[in-house]
Amino acid sequence: MNRSVKGAIEWPKGVRCPVVLSFDLDAELLWKVWLKGKPSIIDTSWVAEKYPDSVEQVVKEGHEIAHHGYEHEDCSRLSREEERAMLRKGSKVLERVSGRRPRGFRLMPGKNTFELLAEEGFLYDSVLMDDDQPYRISIGGKPSGLVELPVCFAFNDTAYFVYTFGMAKPLLTPREVELVYKDEFDALYQEGRYCMFMLHPQLIGRASRLAMLERTIAHTKLSPGVWFATAEEVAEHCQRSLPR
Ligand SMILES: [Zn+2]
Repeated sequence: MNRSVKGAIEWPKGVRCPVVLSFDLDAELLWKVWLKGKPSIIDTSWVAEKYPDSVEQVVKEGHEIAHHGYEHEDCSRLSREEERAMLRKGSKVLERVSGRRPRGFRLMPGKNTFELLAEEGFLYDSVLMDDDQPYRISIGGKPSGLVELPVCFAFNDTAYFVYTFGMAKPLLTPREVELVYKDEFDALYQEGRYCMFMLHPQLIGRASRLAMLERTIAHTKLSPGVWFATAEEVAEHCQRSLPR
């Protein structure tokens, strides 16, 4: 169990519900997505190495870049030292390309992942699905300085738009997904939780789906106290305010 005892989160004054737009750049092509908002870009370092200009542009626009493995590794198959080497190699590439060391991480964890993230000075992890608000990760039974920003399939575009011959299924229309996104937001907003959109440019990047995302964002902006933040900003707030 990695999760510490849950404490209610008090968001900054005037905030009822933070919304984070995160984009996982894990396809061969780096598709640019230009949206009003403040996306966090979760980047495989291999992509950053191959397309440094695009990543530099994203950084120039003020977005956060986080670590998504060097090559989208499966951490459960890595030894402790291999995993540490992957974290360091990926961070080094992202720091070189973006000018800043990444503070967030997203990949399915192995048994050493959280300990290593804490040792390597990461602020947050963002891949678990066991809560609808951030919490401190416990390591060795003790709450650590590492914050988990949980994700969910409801806000994950792969649940609706992935089609491959291996898992052929009807795609949902943007209108159907829009209803899910809006209902999810409305319910989480009512409860003062948080929304972590987990999007992939190769999926959400089609014109009709981007238009849907813009309608969804416009919908969230109708409610007072919505904080469009980077994942790092939300994690920093939680690290300061969550009980230890
Ligand atoms: Zn990914």
